[in-house]
Amino acid sequence: MDMVTSQIEARGVRMPSVLAAMRQVPRHCFVPEASMDMAYDDTPLPIGHGQTISQPYIVGLMTELIRPEPDFTVLEIGAGSGYQAAVLAALVKQVYTIEIIAPLAQAARERLRQAGYLNVEVIQGDGFHGWPSQAPYDAILVTAAAPEIPPPLIQQLKVGGRMVIPVGEPGGAQELVLGEKLGPRKFRATPVLPVRFVPFTRL
Ligand code: SAH
Repeated sequence: MDMVTSQIEARGVRMPSVLAAMRQVPRHCFVPEASMDMAYDDTPLPIGHGQTISQPYIVGLMTELIRPEPDFTVLEIGAGSGYQAAVLAALVKQVYTIEIIAPLAQAARERLRQAGYLNVEVIQGDGFHGWPSQAPYDAILVTAAAPEIPPPLIQQLKVGGRMVIPVGEPGGAQELVLGEKLGPRKFRATPVLPVRFVPFTRL
């Protein structure tokens, strides 16, 4: 498991709390059995239904970009395997994660429960609308690429809160974007890194 953190540390993820969380979360519990021997390689892996679990470096980078604090409530869009949610759950008070593909949502819920992450709630649905009932969030993390930042997500972010989201066309040029809500109507978006994510889909 240490391999993961030495790889991602070498690529610039430095926040000790994030590195500790990634050392602690058993990534092999979140990948299909067929890819188990690659669970700790710095690569994305297929998780079925055409989706992927992000590579450890990207998980580390996105987690660091939101500057997680123990009292945070975080919203994730795109639960997928549940791995990113588990890393967040190790760092913050409460995680809500939305997954649009029902069987993936169910599997992620099971895995997270079995791995003992009780502070994650998996919701099945279209994350475009966010999850208003628990808003506002200290941070929002989106793990599927959307052509534009969904306005409801900006609305549901606390003033002072941070968002990280891949923005761009499906299969085309995408940028990981850091969003900062500077005021009730002030949002600053800063490109961080070119990336390639699965598409943000709609119900
Ligand atoms: N964070 C995941 C990465 C999964 S890939 C992990 O750690 O494994 C991105 C996921 O986003 C896919 O499972 C895909 O089904 C989901 N997704 C795409 N569009 C969505 C939407 N509108 N709402 C919720 N989930 C969505």
